[in-house]
Amino acid sequence: MAQLPNSLEARDSAVQLHSYADARLQEETGALVIDRGEGIYVEDINGKRYIEGMAGLWSVAVGFGEKRLVDVAARQMEKLPYYHTFTYKTHGPSIELAEKLIEMAPVPMSKVYFTNSGSEANDTAIKLIWYRSNALGQPQRKKIISRVRGYHGVTLASASLTGLPNNHRSFDLPIPQVLHTTCPHYRSMKKDGESEAAFAKRCARDLEDMILAEGPDTIAAFFAEPVMGAGGVIVPPEGYWAAVQPVLKKYGILFVADEVICGFGRTGNMFGTQTYDLQPDMMTLSKALSSSYQPISALLINDDVYQPIADESHRIGVLGHGYTGSGHPVAAAVALENLKIIEERDLVGNVRAIAPLFQKRLAGLAENPLVVETRGIGLIGAAELSHETLAATPGALGAKTNATFQEKGLISRNMGDAMAFCPPLIITEAQVNEMFDIAQSSLDAIA
Ligand code: PLP
Repeated sequence: MAQLPNSLEARDSAVQLHSYADARLQEETGALVIDRGEGIYVEDINGKRYIEGMAGLWSVAVGFGEKRLVDVAARQMEKLPYYHTFTYKTHGPSIELAEKLIEMAPVPMSKVYFTNSGSEANDTAIKLIWYRSNALGQPQRKKIISRVRGYHGVTLASASLTGLPNNHRSFDLPIPQVLHTTCPHYRSMKKDGESEAAFAKRCARDLEDMILAEGPDTIAAFFAEPVMGAGGVIVPPEGYWAAVQPVLKKYGILFVADEVICGFGRTGNMFGTQTYDLQPDMMTLSKALSSSYQPISALLINDDVYQPIADESHRIGVLGHGYTGSGHPVAAAVALENLKIIEERDLVGNVRAIAPLFQKRLAGLAENPLVVETRGIGLIGAAELSHETLAATPGALGAKTNATFQEKGLISRNMGDAMAFCPPLIITEAQVNEMFDIAQSSLDAIA
């Protein structure tokens, strides 16, 4: 992409350091400047339209341009643009949203703690877990297990939970309290002749072996996404969760379900927890919570987690944690309205109705010789490309395919050589076909 002097692209490259980009390449090529959005589409500053096949960052559930969210934000801005939830103060929108989340929660939850991003929600979860261990007189119980290829954010602690090399390399992470167990990706992790069922059991055994090697009374919690997203859309093998959960129960290890992507419909139920029959003690939510119209996230904790924390704060005199923006009234009002839209328009029902076509078209990409595997559930999926076919460097084919999709009017995201699809939940069958027609013709052009 040529960057004309004083163009928005050139001005951007001059002043912004971007996330998940090679900064030198960015200086050279510039970024795509998006200007507006409507439904499942966005438009760049030159008026070119794209299908937002990733719903932004797995997040714009109700689509772009939803007027009800704009109106509710404006009304809340006028009434009370800001207030906080520190030190015996609160406000209506945060109360209503917390009530709504407790009501919607798929397992009994006791309290909601508001944060501003998925990373902060997971970071807060770790801090509260440590606080609780201390409260229970178990100061040694501080280790946390997450999984290779899991994604939980980028703060010091949540990036440590994340099991991806680029989030650790040159950042001096992970922190020593965090350990990573086996990634449940059958195709890449299975042993010769191992069935999917046997592989699922081995994943649970690996987890138990790690717990035993570390000492069960040193392990505080296990963090996992019901379906891994940014690690490449890894759908767990049959029997995986049924094998893993009893191990956690056996050693009294808290289970934190990171529902930041799966939450609010993505997998065909309101929560991934329901899709996989999970029993988490804590849940983290963000993204589709507000369709990312406002930055907001939430940590839900059950009573068993809450009570020792409450005792400890009473003993010390304060729970010394909080963000200026925790439960921000505009973000909370927008999230509440967004959840109303998700329910009123039955977007979970739409996911179920559209998923068969979405998954069929995704699976159809495997007819292309570049595609070695497709995987997905509900309205989330990925097509894994074989990087050995055309380009020797892992990720190069993914990046090239991403560029071709973009040229043809589809925004996807390549996680290495896995092309992700995670459109707004309002997508129609015709739009699913439009999206995969572009993907298919792009892959055909490259193969
Ligand atoms: N957890 C999951 C499952 C995510 O996918 C993400 C972001 O993609 C996060 C946590 C971190 O959220 P944020 O980028 O809002 O910090």
